[in-house]
Amino acid sequence: MNVVITGAAGFVGSHLCERFLSEGACVFGVDNFSTGVSGNLSDAVRNPAFQLLTADVSHDFDDVISRAAAPDIVLHLASAASPLEYSVRSIETMEVNSAGSAHCLEWCKRVGARFVFASTSEAYGDPTEHPQSEEYWGNVNPIGPRSCYDESKRFGEALSMAYSRLHGVDVRIARVFNTYGPRMRAHDGRVVPNFIRQALCGDAVTVYGEGSQTRSFCFVEDLCEGLYRLATRQSASGTVVNLGNPDERTIAELAEVVSRLIGVPLRVEHGPLPVDDPRRRCPDISRAKRLLGWEPTTNLEEGLSKTIAYFRGELVAAK
Ligand code: NAD
Ligand code: UDP
Repeated sequence: MNVVITGAAGFVGSHLCERFLSEGACVFGVDNFSTGVSGNLSDAVRNPAFQLLTADVSHDFDDVISRAAAPDIVLHLASAASPLEYSVRSIETMEVNSAGSAHCLEWCKRVGARFVFASTSEAYGDPTEHPQSEEYWGNVNPIGPRSCYDESKRFGEALSMAYSRLHGVDVRIARVFNTYGPRMRAHDGRVVPNFIRQALCGDAVTVYGEGSQTRSFCFVEDLCEGLYRLATRQSASGTVVNLGNPDERTIAELAEVVSRLIGVPLRVEHGPLPVDDPRRRCPDISRAKRLLGWEPTTNLEEGLSKTIAYFRGELVAAK
């Protein structure tokens, strides 16, 4: 099986490369290293079944086509994912989810490959239905600061379905909910790396607003198992599937759990709630259970402990 993974050097992409390599696939990874890190691929590059190309999938796609073997599956993960990153790279984020997706889809159409699009729970915006099932159309501010991400992912979904309907491309869309784990960058701005970094350094954790907003955190190995099944099961063709952990927590509760696991007293510094910050988020994963036989198996405490161990190692290495 030949697999192309865009965003291969990123947090999720690097774990996903390893997941496919462990199944005996040949993996061709593409990344422009805008938010990716080469060290994330230090295990993968030792595997002869792995190849890496530095390229921008929004602009240099001819390079990808000329160097990669004809793929059976293209998984398009390239895109900033952290609100901090996509706000400073708003135009690139829109390009990679629109032009980047179009390049991948056109290639899939030409060679008869399957396309898997990493969409997001942000497609639901600040949801008025709870929990969010795939039937829900969302509540997105089309011109707000998050719109470069939300709307370009929604466009990527619409484009995928257009290629499916018009050209019969086998597309699968994952709406990925908040995922955490080793290889997140300490300063990428997302809540899990922020809280862990702050608590390990003896700083107060920065809770935005009162901390009553909720998220549902999925460990990266669980997500990659879901993405692997979505990409490889016949039954998943033409579908959109939520992939996330339905264990919903407030951000204030997350701050407590992180501090307890690190063994420091909880110290909180409140900051302003970002504009359009979704108030609640929790996936309905019935479809993933039914279609893929998938549900997360790592609980928050276990996943956070592994992530904290990774960050401790990174902090020691940085000294
Ligand atoms: P990340 O920032 O760690 O990884 C993204 C990777 O894409 C980086 O390596 C970056 O360099 C690369 N990239 C960006 N633009 C590119 C381009 N034009 N050409 C080539 N490479 C490019 O983010 P992540 O958390 O690993 O997210 C991966 C994917 O999963 C994204 O599509 C994101 O939207 C989606 N997702 C992630 C989460 C999450 O919680 N981690 C939640 C929802 C959706
Ligand atoms: N958040 C926070 N402190 C931080 C970083 C984030 O309180 O240091 C909050 C943020 O406002 C949001 C939630 O944590 O309500 C999740 O934020 P993140 O950026 O990780 O992901 P999002 O789900 O917003 O894309």
